[in-house]
Amino acid sequence: MKNSGYYSQFGGAFIPEILVPTFDELESAYLAAREDESFWREYQELMSTYSCRATPITRLDNLSEQLGGAGIYVKREDLNHTGAHKANNVMGQGLLTRRMGKKRVIAETGAGQHGVATATMAAKFGFDCTIYMGAHDVARQRPNVFWMEQMGATVVAVNEGSQTLKDAINEAFRDWVSNMDDTHYVLGTACGPHPFPEMVTWFQSIIGTESRKQMLDRTGKLPARVYACVGGGSNAMGIFSGFMDDKEVELVGVEAGGRGTGVGQHAARLAYDDASIGVAQGYKTYFLQDRDGQMQDTHSVSAGLDYVGVSPILSSLHENERVRFEAATDDQVVEAMQRTVRHEGLIPALESSHAFAQAYREAPDLSPDDSILINMSGRADKDIFTVADAVDDPKWREFIIDKAAAYQREMNDA
Ligand SMILES: *Cc1c(COP(=O)(O)O)cnc(C)c1O
Repeated sequence: MKNSGYYSQFGGAFIPEILVPTFDELESAYLAAREDESFWREYQELMSTYSCRATPITRLDNLSEQLGGAGIYVKREDLNHTGAHKANNVMGQGLLTRRMGKKRVIAETGAGQHGVATATMAAKFGFDCTIYMGAHDVARQRPNVFWMEQMGATVVAVNEGSQTLKDAINEAFRDWVSNMDDTHYVLGTACGPHPFPEMVTWFQSIIGTESRKQMLDRTGKLPARVYACVGGGSNAMGIFSGFMDDKEVELVGVEAGGRGTGVGQHAARLAYDDASIGVAQGYKTYFLQDRDGQMQDTHSVSAGLDYVGVSPILSSLHENERVRFEAATDDQVVEAMQRTVRHEGLIPALESSHAFAQAYREAPDLSPDDSILINMSGRADKDIFTVADAVDDPKWREFIIDKAAAYQREMNDA
């Protein structure tokens, strides 16, 4: 095992021997791309013509005034193609895949957002694409599966184990071992074996680089605090990267507090004390696991934050206290989302709404001379079923019942 890819004691690459040459190839390609300035220019060009970069920063005028503290600014990653920061990572890995001369990509996805982003990239680059998804998730995420298939991806429903994300990860690795020569595995967040955490962070750092400059242009100084939600940690690492060396900027990661503390109720690995250090899924970090290393159940209203592990880079930044970790509960998150929709006309994804909830809680304590920046990692179109349920909207219920009845009539007629 190699020594590179460690962030204090976290990270590493705990991979089967057979995959070592593939990881070496990937690391070399990634390091060469980093050295080659034309690669980053090509990446920026692609993102500006395909995915609305540079994304703007929006000031929340109404809520800043209502809360009466810091000026609140929002980095608009929701404006990316497919509606989230995930585009930054998959398009970057697409360019790298082409550079390595590979023609096929695979990915695993839980909620389906990373699957849609990867299928989009594959359609654009002309790659074959296979997406692994737990059978339960395929059933729950029909709209995303629909778009992946329309884009030409093969969606494989994994029937092993709990039929969710971790079983899909195992299947994707099995595929990779059999097809290393022509296939790249597009990992979706800043987790997994080295070089993924570092490479995904590099692609996502485009968020932070833009944000730092935009805040200086806009307000004449740096924000006092930067807030980001933390699932695997890629959008957080992306925006934090821009401010890492600015010691006066406090970085705040917000995890899924779910229904509150207690095993199985949340997915807060760093904000609560329920997680412990371990090695799983090819890397070392804090996992929500029991004493025998069995992964625990997690819960969050937002599928994208519902994960047992966390970026090893964030575990290290937690340990050396560069990033402060907090958790927002499901109820607080839905409330923060509704407040943002109602008063600003922005529709943050449930994941992103964790960052909004914490920022709204803290903004009144700061001075109006200060500004704070929230990373709006994505938009909530995908969350309409969950949110409509959470706010118990009777007209939505009626709509679903009517729709189902219309299908039933069609089936009876056929
Ligand atoms: C997937 C997703 C996340 C969680 O992933 P990170 O790697 O932690 O950024 C957050 N927000 C949105 C909108 C997502 O789609």
